Amino acid sequence: MFSEAETEERYSRQIRFAPIGPRGQRRLGEASVLVVGAGALGASLAQHMVRAGVGRMRLVDRDFVELSNLHRQTLFDEEDAEAALPKAVAAAAKLRRANGRARIEAFVADVDKHNVEALVADTDLVLDGTDNAATRLLLSDACFSRGIPLVYGGVAGSAGMSALLVPGDHCCLRCLLGTEDASDVDETAQTCDTLGVISPAVEWVAALQASEALKLLTDNRAALRGTWVMLDVWNFAIKEWKLPPAVDSCPYCGWGERETAVMDRYSAAGVGGAALYRDGERDGRQTDDDPEAGAPVLLCGRDTFQLKLDPSVSLEEWKRLLLAAGCTITADNRYLVRALTVEGERIVVFAEGRSLIQGAGEADRVMTIYRHYLRGENRRDTVEKSDRV
Ligand SMILES: [Zn+2]
Repeated sequence: MFSEAETEERYSRQIRFAPIGPRGQRRLGEASVLVVGAGALGASLAQHMVRAGVGRMRLVDRDFVELSNLHRQTLFDEEDAEAALPKAVAAAAKLRRANGRARIEAFVADVDKHNVEALVADTDLVLDGTDNAATRLLLSDACFSRGIPLVYGGVAGSAGMSALLVPGDHCCLRCLLGTEDASDVDETAQTCDTLGVISPAVEWVAALQASEALKLLTDNRAALRGTWVMLDVWNFAIKEWKLPPAVDSCPYCGWGERETAVMDRYSAAGVGGAALYRDGERDGRQTDDDPEAGAPVLLCGRDTFQLKLDPSVSLEEWKRLLLAAGCTITADNRYLVRALTVEGERIVVFAEGRSLIQGAGEADRVMTIYRHYLRGENRRDTVEKSDRV
């Protein structure tokens, strides 16, 4: 543990920055933030927050470190990729070494309607480092319901956008994305797979988000930008719009009546990670009022589908099932098992009951992989056994 004098020394250059000063630094130390996503944007945001001295950070991410992340996700290294460590875990380990005083809670999970409330609870600010519109809208709904500010950010190719949305002062993300100016933003969000992404664009957006976060957390509200920014680092351009106020008829930023089905409508309309199958395989968790469980969802950014699995099955059991189905295990740690199918696709099973299937191409093939490798259907040994009976 560090003494008071050492803390002063650690943050001396930041404290010397007049708008922050000793008072702002104290406020940072008392602050609690949630960073959603620990990819390029999220890990950069997490790093800014922890190094600046934010007292408590909750970090949540659904993915693991791969070689293709390293050109832009500067918190990770080849060892993390080799071990296939979950990004939240790898990022938290690095940041604890950077600032041992920060309380860092890492969660390996997909943010969904079941856990979003618990994740945003007791935080002063939520920082968006996600890669899809569906999760952002969930976050916006949860933040505006609880009066928690949300720093929105997104990057694709060499372009990005950012806005700090403060409940009471501005409209919510749902209303912002519904405005005319947002139509090309949403298009950008949809095509990050084909556009690729370059690291300087990520860092610029992260810097914009982190700056507004620092202003808010150090109580420099008068300095808040109050605008929504779009930028391009390659074809150098910046556009800025004043953020619209709350929309009266909106159930989140205004006084409109709340419809519980609104998120499902967004999913069905294909925003971000839309559910492709409504009648997918059922697992132990699925109930009639939970149409998303068990359905493969195409994740943004690459040829990856996500499936929910029975959370009561242990990683050891999944490993046995995958090996019995003919898979080769390529990574095995306390958080996940990664396997290569006979046909060359990759299956990752996380301990919390979730699977990523990579390289399958089509959703139909994902369901075949799921049935064969994760449910053990139509396997030779199963057929032989039933023949004998
Ligand atoms: Zn709204």
